[in-house]
Amino acid sequence: MTKKPFFGFGRPKLKHVRLDHLTQPEIKPIPLPARLTVFLHHAAEAKDLGIRSGTPVKTGEKLPYKGIGGYFVSPATGTIQGISENRTYTDRRFLAITIQVEGKDKWDPQFTEAAQSPGPETALDYLAFLPGISDFTSLISRDTPLHTLIINGTDPDLLILTNQLLMNASPEDIKAGLAHLSKVSGIDQVMVVVPPDLRTQAEKTGAEIRVAEPVYPHTLPRLLVPNLLNQPLPANRPLSDLRVGVISAEAVLALKTAFTDKTLPVEKVISVIDKENRVTCVRARIGTPVKDILGALKISTQQGDRIALGGPMTGQGVYSEDMPIMHDTDAIFVQDKRRVIPPSDSPCINCGECVRACPARLPVNMLVRLLENGLYEEAAQRYDLLSCVECGLCSYVCVMHIPVFHYMMLGKHELALREATEEFNG
Ligand code: SF4
Ligand code: SF4
Repeated sequence: MTKKPFFGFGRPKLKHVRLDHLTQPEIKPIPLPARLTVFLHHAAEAKDLGIRSGTPVKTGEKLPYKGIGGYFVSPATGTIQGISENRTYTDRRFLAITIQVEGKDKWDPQFTEAAQSPGPETALDYLAFLPGISDFTSLISRDTPLHTLIINGTDPDLLILTNQLLMNASPEDIKAGLAHLSKVSGIDQVMVVVPPDLRTQAEKTGAEIRVAEPVYPHTLPRLLVPNLLNQPLPANRPLSDLRVGVISAEAVLALKTAFTDKTLPVEKVISVIDKENRVTCVRARIGTPVKDILGALKISTQQGDRIALGGPMTGQGVYSEDMPIMHDTDAIFVQDKRRVIPPSDSPCINCGECVRACPARLPVNMLVRLLENGLYEEAAQRYDLLSCVECGLCSYVCVMHIPVFHYMMLGKHELALREATEEFNG
């Protein structure tokens, strides 16, 4: 395996847009849709749930999984319309719960009572999935506690403006959320990271401020954190090895909603990128189908257009506008079919563009050769596949339009599956 203690930054350097790129300065509310769908990746079978079709649910109601531990929170009031068992394209099992929504929210009172005594137990009991972070409780329930929390006021991909907008609009609320965060996590050292133009607003949070250049992929946490702390992160090691946790500005605001307003956060702010690359930030109920959000913004699509959940560099294409937004959906990216570059099955010509662009300094040209042929273990052992920071630059620069990033993700996923199977089989 190639050992590389430091990450490097290659070309190209792509600048993030600023808030003046937004079509409107406010967050546009999206009406509650008739139906919501929640995906549960921890519960794989309908029998894991204590609910069935026809069960009434309230907004904010905690619905525990039976036997396997864990829970999910209903984002709306209504009736369970269906529960289906599904598999992702990488063969991962998950459940889809569809809720027929009633017009008006009836809030479940359990959390309001629990939030009278805010603390780690209440967070563990109710806040596993905060908007803006997919697993909040893993930050606060570690065997080896973290010593620093980084509040990310930058955004993870190009054309996403969610965290920057929230930092600009609500620094006092973020300050209130930070007080709760310190209390539930026990971590006092908190840094807020923002692009240069948001420094003044971020200072109102009262936290230590660090400024990150708004250049992609520098804002990806695996690159951002080692740079900020001037500490190398060994390849294939999690950020928690540096005893640092990263949480988005949006998630900190959600904590404020939970513990100051005593209401479970059930909405997500999303950057919607239209076919002309214009960006509108919207606030939608978790589980809202993409089509309802696009409809509210009057964005129409036609056969051949591409829709991705996430930004232009790392977003994952979806095949249906019925796909819902989840706690960790940062953006919806709509690409006109005339701008979609179809992936090619042309052979690599070894031009080296991907190698020069790769911020993890991987021999991407060699990795492609192995991954195309399903040689995942060899790719990890010989060429450090697991050091890939998932930035997508290799696909962006590939002159032959090889779906290099897709191969990287597939390779990593296959290795994780094999490892899980080996563990399961003892
Ligand atoms: S996605 Fe591509 S360019 Fe980015 S780190 Fe991985 S291999 Fe390198
Ligand atoms: S950019 Fe594409 S064609 Fe060039 S070396 Fe990389 S994978 Fe091969």
